[in-house]
Parts: sequence; structure tokens; C-alpha cells
Amino acid sequence: QVKQKGKAHYRFYNADMNVAFPNYILMESHLRRAIEKNELIIYYQPQVNLITGKMDSFEALLRWQNPVFGFVAPSQFIPLAEDTGLIIPIGEWVIENVCKQIASWREKGHQNIRIAINISPKQFLQHKLPEFIKNALIKYDLPPNVLEIEITEGAMQDTRMTLMMLNRLKEIGVVISVDDFGTGYSSLNYLKRFPLDILKIDQSFVKEIKMNSKDAAITKTIIHLAHSLGLEVIAEGVEDFSQVEFLLDAKCQKAQGFYFSKPVSPNEIETNLLVANM
Ligand code: C2E
Ligand code: MG
Ligand code: MG
Ligand code: MG
Repeated sequence: QVKQKGKAHYRFYNADMNVAFPNYILMESHLRRAIEKNELIIYYQPQVNLITGKMDSFEALLRWQNPVFGFVAPSQFIPLAEDTGLIIPIGEWVIENVCKQIASWREKGHQNIRIAINISPKQFLQHKLPEFIKNALIKYDLPPNVLEIEITEGAMQDTRMTLMMLNRLKEIGVVISVDDFGTGYSSLNYLKRFPLDILKIDQSFVKEIKMNSKDAAITKTIIHLAHSLGLEVIAEGVEDFSQVEFLLDAKCQKAQGFYFSKPVSPNEIETNLLVANM
């Protein structure tokens, strides 16, 4: 069924994305076999508590290494996976493997680790998602709050459906965050209605907080808004110390970005970050 859908849809990404048409058909056929061929890898980017300096949460970011296409960026293959429906098996693979990773780190003594997974709109609206997540948590004997689900505003269009899915996830006990906050069709209404835990300030605002007074004002406002609503807030895309100073001053407790670490392999997390963090 997924296959048929993929075929029917391939015109769309040709129009949307500036990549040659035949490339996309070939890329799709490679992506279809990426899991079984072990071409997918999950990298992890630490999220730093700016007050304590600790890194006890990470964002899982998918990487695809293919013999023909080389190292394909998520910005290229995630939209392709969404359009073809391949995002469902790929997303399930990510959930399964992140849970496995958390279990392995917990076994090594890192009990307080939390990992955030990106869930794209099509995945989010899938009826069986909460059940899949629940089963993965049970399989690896994990408490639900070690897993965070990142969704974008794009996944929240259908309010009734979104509320139902979020409530089911909340019932399981996973942490829920809004990714790229402020860049979608934001409506303050959903902050009132949906059971959210974290707002992630999009990197486009954080990028120029020191130079652009509008970005500075928006960032401060998001931080204040989050705290007023009892939500945690994480700044994305922090690349230098002046941004850290700004965020500390604005009472933002958590940040993520190249200044601290780019996304790295699980091995690198283990040998460099977790050891220093114990
Ligand atoms: P995102 O969830 O907003 O992830 C943040 C992106 O910003 C990541 O790009 C990360 O590498 C990058 N980044 C982190 N710190 C900095 C910084 O200081 N400066 C700059 N310029 N960039 C920074 P990446 O890994 O290429 O992922 C791109 C997007 O692909 C993600 O955006 C997410 O929407 C999507 N994605 C990645 N992995 C998955 C996945 O497993 N499932 C789904 N559905 N989507 C994923
Ligand atoms: Mg994200
Ligand atoms: Mg983001
Ligand atoms: Mg993004």
C-alpha cells in the first residue's frame, strides 16, 4: 500500500524541491531499503542546562548514509519519506532504536537521560503511534518520561485530532514539546488547549538575538510566555557565547546548538559527554 502511494505521489516532490526528477525516483527506491541495509544512523545533540552546565537530555537526529547518494541530509530525505509514506516505518525504527539506546545508557548508570524524537505531521496523525510508543517503552522497560516527542505546529492543524493524539500520548506519560516554535501557523489558542510540556524556540529567532532587536524581543517573549504557562523552554541553534549570555539574562534555562555540540554519534556521546557529566 505504501508502495503505491509513493508512486502516485512522486510528481509532488519534483515540483516542491529543486532536485532532478529521476533522482527522486531513484532516491525513493534506495530510501525504501535503507532500514534493511542498515543505512540509517541516529545522531544525538545534547541539550544543555545553562544553570548547571549539565547535559541530561538529547535530541535524536536521523542520518542517512547511502552508497549512491552519499550522506543525505534530513532536510532532503524526511520530506521524501513523508510524501511516500516511508516515514511510518522509518519513524518506527527511530522510536525503537532510541528506546534501545536509552535502555543501554541507563544500564551503564545514566538513569536521568531523556531523549527527544522528532515526529513529522504524517506520523503524528497516525492512529497507532501512541500504542507503538507505549509498546517500545514496555519492551525496553523504560519509564515514559525518558522519552520526549517533538511535534511542529504543522502537525496541529486539525484541532480535534491533535487534541486526541496529544491526550493519548500524555496518558502514556511521555514529554511533549513544540519544535520550531513560532515559525508555523502559530495560534496561542493551542497553547491553552493542548497538554504541552516544552516550547523549543526556533533557531531562526535565536540566530540574531544579539543583532536584531525584533528577534531579541520575540525570543524574550516566547521565554516569558512559556514560563507563564508553566512550560519549559529550550533555545535552538545556539552558536556562540553571546547568545548564551542573552538567554541566561532572559531566564531561559536550556539550550541546544553548535556552541555546545553538533549532533554526534552515540559512541561520541558515551566517550565524551556522558563521562564528563556523571
Ligand atoms: P529540527 O528538529 O528543528 O532539528 C534541529 C536542526 O538544526 C538539526 O538539523 C540540527 O543538526 C541543526 N542544528 C542544531 N544546532 C544548530 C546550530 O547551532 N546551528 C545550526 N545552523 N543548525 C543547528 P538536521 O539534523 O539536519 O535535521 C533537520 C530536520 O530534520 C530536523 O529539524 C527535523 O525536523 C528533521 N528530522 C531529523 N531527524 C528526524 C527524525 O528522526 N524524524 C523526523 N520525522 N524528522 C527528523
Ligand atoms: Mg527537533
Ligand atoms: Mg527545531
Ligand atoms: Mg526544523
